[in-house]
Amino acid sequence: MMSKFFSPKYRALTPYTPGEQPKTGQYVKLNTNESPFAPSQNALKAAEAALKTLQLYPDPECRALREKMAGVLGVKPEQIIFTNGSDEVLNFAFMAFCDRDTPAAFADITYGFYPVFATLNGVPYTTIPLAEDFSIDVKDYVGLNKTIFIANPNAPTGKLLTLEQIERIVAANSENVVVIDEAYIDFGGESAVCLIHKYKNLLVTGTFSKSRSAAGARLGFGVADEALIADLNTIRYSTNPYNVNALTMALGLGILEDESYTKENCQSIIKNRAYTTERLRALGFEVIESAANFVFAKTDAIGGKALYEKLKEKNVLVRHFKKERIREYNRITIGTAEQMRQLLQAIEEILAEVNA
Ligand code: PMP
Repeated sequence: MMSKFFSPKYRALTPYTPGEQPKTGQYVKLNTNESPFAPSQNALKAAEAALKTLQLYPDPECRALREKMAGVLGVKPEQIIFTNGSDEVLNFAFMAFCDRDTPAAFADITYGFYPVFATLNGVPYTTIPLAEDFSIDVKDYVGLNKTIFIANPNAPTGKLLTLEQIERIVAANSENVVVIDEAYIDFGGESAVCLIHKYKNLLVTGTFSKSRSAAGARLGFGVADEALIADLNTIRYSTNPYNVNALTMALGLGILEDESYTKENCQSIIKNRAYTTERLRALGFEVIESAANFVFAKTDAIGGKALYEKLKEKNVLVRHFKKERIREYNRITIGTAEQMRQLLQAIEEILAEVNA
């Protein structure tokens, strides 16, 4: 639906479709790559304490959080920006670093929000096809003269580029910004944050939505040379200086006080991912080796959409994408060992039904 008042500049926009967020607790929810673990008790206490001063605006500079994060990442507070989820810093990057003269470039199979942000901001973009096995060929990203967006690990494939491969891409595009979206880096990848000291054209983005168990609080960040961060702040102060609310800010600080809890949870996910991958392969699935908190899998026994639907009937929710190249696959979030047991049991039942 659309009103007659809607600006023509947005009429062709197809918005991003978020994964389902069912209100009932009936599902084993493995469709939006959230953490299965609650935020730590300390973090929750910190957020609760912040309730008492909600009559005040939050610190628009996010100073305490940036200082804490700077220590965690080994950078300066001036090299960090916090945003309302990492989606917001990605949108800011499209606004700040792309236009008609500097289009965007990203893979054909990657995070589905990139083309939406491009269209929203009137930015032309080209997609670079992944290889047959969904890997990125670094040679395709040399001297593109475009602003490059790469999710590492990639979504929804879970495939990882090495730090060396990322550095080659950043070095080969010194006149353009390269954005490395590290939403899933804590589940086995090596972060490119260390490269921001060497390259002024690198922006690394991250999120508290996955490894840090705070998807509902909406907290993301960007790390880059101070000048790039200053540009992003110009955009931020021109849209919403209070983009990170006081509860989220307090929660975020509490989460960073508990880095060992985050690391333990990541280790559980990595262990459950190995188990799930092995079991799915034993059941005849082709499972891409994943460095993220999800696996991307398909089987000849049943089509991607049919499997998604049958799993849903059995109260297991996974993510299916209609896109031609990947429609035989499902993306399955890695949860607790118990959730994985329920997933695998449902899959075994479905396979038995289709083979009957
Ligand atoms: N990048 C990628 C690759 C993602 O999959 C997601 C999660 N949908 C995001 C960024 C954004 O996550 P958030 O806004 O919750 O930080």
